[in-house]
Amino acid sequence: MQQNEVKKVVILGGGSAGWLSAGLIAAQPHLTHNAQITLIESPDIATIGVGEGTWPTMRQTLKTIGISESEFIQRCDASFKQGSRFDGWCDDEGDAHYYHPFSLPVAYQQLNIAPYWFANKDAVSFSHAVASQTYLCDHHKAPKNHLHSAYQGEANYGYHLDAGKFAMLLQQHCTTKLNVEHIVSHVECINSDEDGYISSLQTRDHGTIAGDLFIDCSGTHAKLLHQHYGIELIEQHDVLFNDRAVAVQVPYLNPQQEILSYTKATAQDAGWIWDIGLQSRRGLGMVYSSRFASSEDAKQALSQYIAKTQPGTAQNELTFREISFTPGYRRRFWYKNCLAIGMSAGFIEPLEASALVMVELGLNNLLANFPTHRAAMPTLAKRFDEQCHYRWQRIIEFLKLHYVLSKRTSPYWQAHKEANSVPLQLQENLALWQYQSPWLNDFDRAQEVFSAASYQYVLYGMKQLPQFPVLAMPTAIIEHFSANQQQAKRGLQQLPTNRELLNHIQQFGIQPI
Ligand SMILES: Cc1cc2nc3c(=O)[nH]c(=O)nc-3n(C[C@H](O)[C@H](O)[C@H](O)COP(=O)(O)OP(=O)(O)OC[C@H]3O[C@@H](n4cnc5c(N)ncnc54)[C@H](O)[C@@H]3O)c2cc1C
Repeated sequence: MQQNEVKKVVILGGGSAGWLSAGLIAAQPHLTHNAQITLIESPDIATIGVGEGTWPTMRQTLKTIGISESEFIQRCDASFKQGSRFDGWCDDEGDAHYYHPFSLPVAYQQLNIAPYWFANKDAVSFSHAVASQTYLCDHHKAPKNHLHSAYQGEANYGYHLDAGKFAMLLQQHCTTKLNVEHIVSHVECINSDEDGYISSLQTRDHGTIAGDLFIDCSGTHAKLLHQHYGIELIEQHDVLFNDRAVAVQVPYLNPQQEILSYTKATAQDAGWIWDIGLQSRRGLGMVYSSRFASSEDAKQALSQYIAKTQPGTAQNELTFREISFTPGYRRRFWYKNCLAIGMSAGFIEPLEASALVMVELGLNNLLANFPTHRAAMPTLAKRFDEQCHYRWQRIIEFLKLHYVLSKRTSPYWQAHKEANSVPLQLQENLALWQYQSPWLNDFDRAQEVFSAASYQYVLYGMKQLPQFPVLAMPTAIIEHFSANQQQAKRGLQQLPTNRELLNHIQQFGIQPI
């Protein structure tokens, strides 16, 4: 029995996925029976270095790993993210925009308020009517003030961060505080036992590293799951067309410039531009489809965007970085004693920043059912695979929703509306939502990635309203709407701006918990 116990976990890869894996596993030894953790990363293969938007889940992740919110914000150039804003997605005209805030609609735990909003739809947008956070976003407000404890806030929030600095902080914390062994060496080959389970990784200059459970965090290389076990990607080119990005870091001209409280996503003819405000700079990028645009087109669109949003920027001093990726996810995520976390498991595109949250969800899943013995692995692997497949499919449908509702007319946007590119489940849901509002029983798993609330924000932001009679408004409902407006008013009066709070945290830190 003892022979196949899981006593040592080997993580391959030192990007955000690898270090988050190391941190979450090492910080919870009670869940792993004190398994030892080793992380190996290659000195030759750089991390992807993008991935600057997180979900609110990152607060719990950092807290579990034992990193203080002050240190994280001070060292990772981090800022507060309260959702996403979509500019120009509805149609070709003007600058119309809508929000997908992190906070749930008011009274969400009690009732579906969306159908009551239709009566007021011309006076106030859905997200303004139901989420006071939308007003905070309009005014670059922080989701908390200096009196809130670490990881607590007035409104729900995640972060924007510098991915390189984040990996460095995690590395330092894991190696100095959580006893994670760190080996910098290229893994050249993989050794298996007679049952096909991985027994060790052969490094170029650190010998053979043995283990009982292997986590493949080697990014798009997928060295273990793909290169060794041959597990393919289920490509999603036909559904979501983006496969390239050009990214650039743009310093603020005025170091005290306001910092956006949301990721701004601006539609373009063959893709969209992300705009993320950190403390010292903005992270920008154009994600696009190589079927519809060249890298020159993308750079030009990005340059024009920079010139428009920050005139006076010396663009000849900026470094534009090109990234290519294949949208898709693995056919299997856990095979034998090896599982994939991060880009090795899959990646679709940066819209709605769903990659790091999939890392967190995958790790929480692993830790909730940690295999202390090899004999448990086949059953756990089957469940893990099923859960991952479900989540990737739901993510794909939700991302596609953003494109399929658009009235933009360029060939890229038109192609997104072709029926054979729209997943059947989404087609069915869209047909249903012509007559009713998305609600809890449309998505009934305990841990859905995107809830009915997210669908409501996008559908009604994109002006896709159901066809049913306007409901009369009972007093209780009027009170919910007005409570939301009151909360917005209080927030606008009492909360500092993102910039003000971040300056304060740089100087004094945050109240510990
Ligand atoms: C354009 C773009 C924008 C994105 N934006 C977001 C976002 O806003 N939010 C979000 O959540 N996610 C985003 N992502 C995804 C996010 O960047 C990744 O999910 C995240 O960085 C995790 O990457 P990773 O650690 O899996 O891979 P990587 O960062 O690529 O790390 C791979 C590691 O594996 C190591 N390695 C590989 N082969 C070997 C070998 N043979 N031997 C030893 N080591 C090896 C490398 O050295 C490296 O350390 C974005 C991705 C792209 C492409």
